[in-house]
Amino acid sequence: MSPGQIPMLAVALAAADRGWPVFPLAPGRKRPALHGHDRCPGTGPCAGGHQGWEQRATTDPDRIRRAWSSDRPFNVGLACGVAGLLVVDLDTLDPGDPDDVVPPAWVARGIGDGAGVLAALADDVGEAMPATWTVTTPSGGRHLYFAAPEGEALRNTSGDRGSGLGWKIDTRGGGGYVVAPGSITPAGAYTVTDDQAVASLPGWLLQRLRPAQPPAVPAGPIRTGSGRRDRYLDAALRAETARVHHAPASQRNASLYVAAVALGQLVAGGSLDEDEARRTLHSAAARHLALGAYSPRQAEQTISSGLRAGAKRPRRIEDAA
Ligand SMILES: [Zn+2]
Repeated sequence: MSPGQIPMLAVALAAADRGWPVFPLAPGRKRPALHGHDRCPGTGPCAGGHQGWEQRATTDPDRIRRAWSSDRPFNVGLACGVAGLLVVDLDTLDPGDPDDVVPPAWVARGIGDGAGVLAALADDVGEAMPATWTVTTPSGGRHLYFAAPEGEALRNTSGDRGSGLGWKIDTRGGGGYVVAPGSITPAGAYTVTDDQAVASLPGWLLQRLRPAQPPAVPAGPIRTGSGRRDRYLDAALRAETARVHHAPASQRNASLYVAAVALGQLVAGGSLDEDEARRTLHSAAARHLALGAYSPRQAEQTISSGLRAGAKRPRRIEDAA
């Protein structure tokens, strides 16, 4: 420990004193120092089953003193969800990664990092950039600490994926942790740079972070035709609806495209009305839209380009049956 540095035990106790459960991270690192599920010895705290960092995080000073009693300077992990915190992680461009570039839409607005994106999002809804207890990270990023509203199960979000807030903005709630201030990595220290009270999560952010309730079942095709052709068409519409509805997260957009191509072929073959194809695809995509997997505009673009691709290879149901 170099002069002026705070022992990690004091760092851990300071966080716990605020009521925030902590657990050890590897010395100089951001990853948990505790064993993972796959290496669980089934002894000690795990005698009754594996306990992950979220379960083992504690505010108990005695347990903390024991955990930080060795000479190894464990960094301090802070379990956000159990601490009742929602931490907004504003990141910066990675100078070591040539692929890490500012998206054109943000370049156009003169924005180059997560803090700029959050300020823009606030401005877009007529709100001020939220101010709260803030930690600056070694890379120049910022962790904004907010009190999460009771009874809201806010999980982690990542960038602009799903219900994420936007480019270079992650959030840490249930199932997430942050490196507590006072911790040190080779890149530098995590430091409190705005020592004001922890603010409540602003309502406009809560609204955006609240997970959407997806519809339980796909809204299937509404056709009730009789006869061989109609039965085949019903089956095709049902199959494509299911394909999209049940797509795994990584396949959401691809499955919508594939379904649109299939229905586009039937439209081009004169067996299916284009409006009905679009209605079916939109209703199949509704669950993913509700989850924020893509925007209505992205869904519309995928559907249109799939229908166009399918139109190049018309199929008639008489041929196919
Ligand atoms: Zn274990």
